[in-house]
Amino acid sequence: MIAFDFEYYQPLILKDADEKYRQARLLGEKAVYFNGGTEFITFARKGQVEADVIIDLKTIPDCHRLALNEDELVIGAAVTLNEITESDLFPLLGDVVKKIADHTSRNKITIGVNINSRLMYKEALLGLFVVDAEVEVIGENGRERQAISKLKLKEGEFISQIFIPYKNLQLPFVSLKRTKLSKVGYPVVSIAAVVKDDEIRVAFSGLTAQPFRCIKVEEILNDATLSIESRIEKAIDKISMPIIKDLNGSEDYRKFVTAQLLWEILQKLEVKK
Ligand SMILES: Cc1cc2nc3c(=O)[nH]c(=O)nc-3n(C[C@H](O)[C@H](O)[C@H](O)COP(=O)(O)OP(=O)(O)OC[C@H]3O[C@@H](n4cnc5c(N)ncnc54)[C@H](O)[C@@H]3O)c2cc1C
Repeated sequence: MIAFDFEYYQPLILKDADEKYRQARLLGEKAVYFNGGTEFITFARKGQVEADVIIDLKTIPDCHRLALNEDELVIGAAVTLNEITESDLFPLLGDVVKKIADHTSRNKITIGVNINSRLMYKEALLGLFVVDAEVEVIGENGRERQAISKLKLKEGEFISQIFIPYKNLQLPFVSLKRTKLSKVGYPVVSIAAVVKDDEIRVAFSGLTAQPFRCIKVEEILNDATLSIESRIEKAIDKISMPIIKDLNGSEDYRKFVTAQLLWEILQKLEVKK
């Protein structure tokens, strides 16, 4: 049960959602944007989040777009993970997100929230980091595009759409995820990789406090003067952020799993030897 009363608002255009948020703030009320509801409802039931106004973005057509423009794919923030996989418009992202949660939850979980989730994993980012995606953010300044690698929302801002260059939609890719126990679960490590212009690009989740892509790590993985074993060892040593240690795995275990996955990825992508 959700133990607080709230106003439920369904805007039809982006501007109305933003205005409603600002209006609530002026009245001293707390407004929250809402998409699939899986995260908000879970935290609201536990009493870990409260709101006076819930702004449901699912009623806005821009947030539901899933279509090819002239030179890019547009994915609305309210598009569900299953819709992305089933559309097959961007096979890498479809493959990454079908490893998140179970099928029933993926009918609700939306891409726009996964990439800005409270949870650290945000696995959909992996499929977006390696293809130079951009994100449209709505806020005080209207519509603003940001590179996915620089995505940072200020208070009151929300994501409306994601853009992927057409030329990067069909790159050769591998995405692998390892969990502690079952097939469904948070990742010990999750990695997505593509080959673009003969160079491998790699992004990681589960390993550090935030998903990341690191050019220095990629330079080592692409260094054909080194053996594959040496590239993997040096690449892992190059990760400068602290490696997570928790109930899912120690630092050494995470590094071990990362090495295994990188080995598999380099073999599958037939990276230059
Ligand atoms: C069973 C289960 C298993 C999961 N496993 C994984 C996993 O293995 N890997 C992984 O990466 N994730 C995992 N998740 C996390 C999941 O991806 C996120 O919690 C989910 O994306 C929330 O999406 P939603 O649309 O339901 O969010 P909502 O509950 O609708 O929104 C959550 C919050 O996001 C904010 N918000 C809403 N809309 C926007 C917007 N357009 N722009 C910016 N902020 C907004 C609001 O603050 C809102 O309170 C799992 C979740 C569940 C339920």
